[in-house]
Amino acid sequence: MAAVPPYRGRFAPSPTGPLHFGSLVAAVGSYLDARAHGGEWLVRMEDVDTPRNVPGAADGILATLEAYGFAWDGPVLRQSTRLAAYAAELERLQAAGLAYGCACSRREIADAATHAAVDGGLAYPGTCRNGLPAGRVARAWRLRVDDAATGFVDRLQGVVVQHLEHDVGDFVLRRADGLFAYQLAVAVDDEFQGISDIVRGADLLASTPRQIWLQRCLGYATPRYAHLPVATNAAGEKLSKQTLAPGLEAGQAAAMLVRALRFLGQAAPDELARVGVGDVWAWAHAHWSSAAIPRRLAIPLVNPP
Ligand code: GLU
Repeated sequence: MAAVPPYRGRFAPSPTGPLHFGSLVAAVGSYLDARAHGGEWLVRMEDVDTPRNVPGAADGILATLEAYGFAWDGPVLRQSTRLAAYAAELERLQAAGLAYGCACSRREIADAATHAAVDGGLAYPGTCRNGLPAGRVARAWRLRVDDAATGFVDRLQGVVVQHLEHDVGDFVLRRADGLFAYQLAVAVDDEFQGISDIVRGADLLASTPRQIWLQRCLGYATPRYAHLPVATNAAGEKLSKQTLAPGLEAGQAAAMLVRALRFLGQAAPDELARVGVGDVWAWAHAHWSSAAIPRRLAIPLVNPP
């Protein structure tokens, strides 16, 4: 009988601002799912998109996680220390003819694209996939995809299928500014860290088929996925730095944890918000039920924190 790999989960914030309620939900969901499975929970700082990093945000996020009573396993992995690994994996894809150089500017893609991609941008029209036009040089590196169904069964959201060539197009692994793309970094690091289970916000659901495609191209195993509903404001926008979601304060830890638990469908009693953080976690570990998590992509908050 094949051995079942041990559960190892992770929380992978980008240090683009303080931890806010939306990211707290992902932290709570991934943490409790890991602990309920007797698994490990790792924290990875996704600081690969350096222009978006805010000085001090990484330390601020870790300090807030600590003040909120999270205990992670092992050292925090920072993506900024992993550039050689991303370069080596990109080279493997280039050598296999799976990644190719692309000369297109944003403008050229906009002019040639015929339809939108699943995540709102434009589906890459494939201009450079059979070679660079004469006299042009590569600015970015893209991964070749096909139009067969790439899918998976999400533990919460059910069957997700994309036809990558139509739905996304050949996607970027290394950007024109030289930075490695999130899709490459996340696939390489989930494999490197031996992640068996990814629990994160449903805003990343549409990225998952690309990550699975990359895992297959690189010969990696595919983890299990559970995409949690994301918190939105009344206008239906995801709580994020862009929508100016406020950072969490250490003094509100118990109340905010109770709110996050309720958001995830857990019947945390009101009194818990008035006791200590340790008691909230004791309740959460004893009562956590992934079956109670709403099977929804987004839930608007009545009174956003
Ligand atoms: N770093 C990403 C974010 O903050 C999350 C990546 C992931 O969980 O795969 O949105």
